[in-house]
Amino acid sequence: MSAPRQYSLNLPDVEREELPVDVLLVGAGPANLACAIHLQRLLQARGLSDKTVLVLEKAEEVGQHTLSGAVMNPRGMSELFPDWRERGCPVEAEVGPDAMWWLTRAGATRFEGALCPPQLKNHGNFIVSMNQVVGWMKAQAEALGVQVYPGFPAAEILFEGGRVIGVQTRDSGLDKHGQRKDAYQPGMNVKAAVTVFGEGARGHLAKHLIRRLGLDEDRNPQTYGTGIKELWEVTPEIGAQWCGAATGGKGRVVHTGGHPLGFDGYGGSWIYGLPGNRLSLGYVVGLDHHDARLDPHALFVAWKQHPAIAKLLAGGKLLRYGAKTVPEGGYFAMPKLQGDGFVLVGDTGGFLNASTLKGVHLSIKSGLLAAEAIADALAAGDTSGARLARYSELFEASWARTELWKVRNWRQAFDQGFLSGMIDAGVQMITGGRGLVARRRGHADHTTTRPVSASRMTKPAYDDTRFMDKLTDVYHSGTVHEEDQPAHLLVKDAAICVDRCTREFGNPCQHFCPAAVYEWPSESTPAGPIVNFSNCVHCKTCDIADPYENIEWVVPEGGGGPKYHGL
Ligand code: SF4
Repeated sequence: MSAPRQYSLNLPDVEREELPVDVLLVGAGPANLACAIHLQRLLQARGLSDKTVLVLEKAEEVGQHTLSGAVMNPRGMSELFPDWRERGCPVEAEVGPDAMWWLTRAGATRFEGALCPPQLKNHGNFIVSMNQVVGWMKAQAEALGVQVYPGFPAAEILFEGGRVIGVQTRDSGLDKHGQRKDAYQPGMNVKAAVTVFGEGARGHLAKHLIRRLGLDEDRNPQTYGTGIKELWEVTPEIGAQWCGAATGGKGRVVHTGGHPLGFDGYGGSWIYGLPGNRLSLGYVVGLDHHDARLDPHALFVAWKQHPAIAKLLAGGKLLRYGAKTVPEGGYFAMPKLQGDGFVLVGDTGGFLNASTLKGVHLSIKSGLLAAEAIADALAAGDTSGARLARYSELFEASWARTELWKVRNWRQAFDQGFLSGMIDAGVQMITGGRGLVARRRGHADHTTTRPVSASRMTKPAYDDTRFMDKLTDVYHSGTVHEEDQPAHLLVKDAAICVDRCTREFGNPCQHFCPAAVYEWPSESTPAGPIVNFSNCVHCKTCDIADPYENIEWVVPEGGGGPKYHGL
């Protein structure tokens, strides 16, 4: 059987520079930066300081493509740097009072203190902005001698047989037809003994690698949620209640369930109080929702229109917007974590606890464990998959595995609906994570979409003050792409969109994208969707949720994408 096609916009048959390094890390998120830092320390301790460790990042600046809630469990960071607070790791606030609100259409039942569900208790955790945290981690890495190259997207994996030998970075200076402009620069072939894929959720290189090498054999399909986030400045009165006098300067943390999803799908929201009269607000919905008109952004706006939320925003101002996907499938959906010449870490490896909606500590731990295995492999001069399997062994013996094992059936229990999921989740709590079934299977999200005739989704009313539409929100993400370049959203077969998808699913791409990238033309015989790729916030929802797997996200030119700040 031939290997699946690797999609890329790079020109073939071009002479390219070669850059040899020892360890190459693709993506500058918390997992890869933790891995780079720990690896550099281990190499220095073993007298292997001559080894080069290089991190490539597609954003113009490290952190600009990083987004999270985020309430951080400090366990991973404390292992990376026991003195992380003294070293100046940016923290918005310690977590203060926490609660869970169950929302009906107009009401709210508040579960506070002892009544707050255990998964949503956050005492001892910290509210952070992850794009600031990774900026700080980058500085720590560089101080140790790690090289970090932002603005260098990895476009393709380089293979030698079944072995990963590095990546090819993205060409720049191609016009919208894929032809060379005067400023054309071919990407480099960066070759490494070990390549670490920490691209985040649904990494486009890891997706190819997992399929090509069958790394998901016998695993559950990964299932994802799309998270929408806004950062708000609120009135001083609201600010004082959420992170001020009323909370002793700590940040109030509230998660909500219920409206607008009700019992129809898996999802919920967060509200975190930040200093300076700011609130972090977000909504996450599972992409196995079934409804062909599923629109995570519309659900977020409908949630903001609930009286309990809307009143928090009255008189306030939207500061920032962003969106990303999160891997919710848990332990049984994690792919094999290594092979010849590579490892997978962080969201790319499925390191996320969906029950608590937390992954930063697990991502950092994955980076630490991978670093141990890579250092051993380099010292032995053997970077085969068999040698790097030490990473999986370390994971299986770690607290990260223990945590994920306790919630191994969590997300799949909600496959049959929210209420049956809640019952199973209750049983899981008294059976050490087993629940009603020893191992639940799952479905790939794109296979769960029902015909558009069964859709019940409606759109909320938008305004310019609190309930912004997608384009207004995209503006607040700072997203920019060079317009004269090939679209990085590949619609593989537009005939499927026209002939089948319109009839069967009503072209869901125009709904699920949180950045209004896809438009369905009004003419009677359209050629396919209009793709406004310059709006793309790189969330990967389309790559995951298209019912025909007809959309392929590939990496655009360096520097393109959102410019998150404070998210
Ligand atoms: Fe997300 Fe795809 Fe829309 Fe880009 S085009 S914002 S990756 S759904």
